[in-house]
Amino acid sequence: MTTADDATPTCLARPLRAPGENPVACVVARGVDGRPAHAAALRFYWGPMDCGKSTMALQMNHNHSRQGRRGLVTTRIDRSLGPQVTSRIGLAHEAIEITDEVDLRALVRNAWADGVRVDYLICDEASFYSVQHVEQMAELVDSYDVDVYAFGLATDFRSCLFPAAQRLFELADSVARIQVEVLCWCGREGLLNARVAGGRVVREGEQVVIGDTVDTGDLRYQVLCRRHHRAGDLGPRPAIAEG
Ligand SMILES: [Zn+2]
Repeated sequence: MTTADDATPTCLARPLRAPGENPVACVVARGVDGRPAHAAALRFYWGPMDCGKSTMALQMNHNHSRQGRRGLVTTRIDRSLGPQVTSRIGLAHEAIEITDEVDLRALVRNAWADGVRVDYLICDEASFYSVQHVEQMAELVDSYDVDVYAFGLATDFRSCLFPAAQRLFELADSVARIQVEVLCWCGREGLLNARVAGGRVVREGEQVVIGDTVDTGDLRYQVLCRRHHRAGDLGPRPAIAEG
């Protein structure tokens, strides 16, 4: 989608919509300085496993699309291991799998070139993205006027920040801890994800190893309060059933 007007762009903001293409949504209004009157934003929603991040991501997508906005849903290494966002309460949505090679800006530009509007991105499992991806999210907001809503874990099984999560904390316009409480076995609020192998808390290993919070094999994750994460105490829950 190249026109003569594109030769000297002052801004990479989304192209104007075709006449009649969604009369509900308005073209971005710009002030005399050319800046969008309604600025896009980068928002990061974080919480431990099982706190409903993917559910919220899909709800966010639903709410925006119902208002006539169009977005892309992306994920990385969803527990379903398919190109979709799945939530533990049963929701699912097709998603674009983000690999190191994917450039989020190119994703949006290509969609625009195909005539597909993109008003926002829903980035699930964002803590598994690269730091470069987070930089691209910021550029999408600042130069393309695309809203980016990122959802993910803050910390890994050692209670250390994921690099992408750290960058999101640094760059996001807003950061919010998801308010659905996940409880440790002791009843305190669950804060940290413990990696469990052979019935014991593991503290060394690769930062990203796929597992779920239900027993699916040798490795699983369990949300614990800080006290019990530090102590490595998995509580009275029985160890992994022997197969
Ligand atoms: Zn506890």
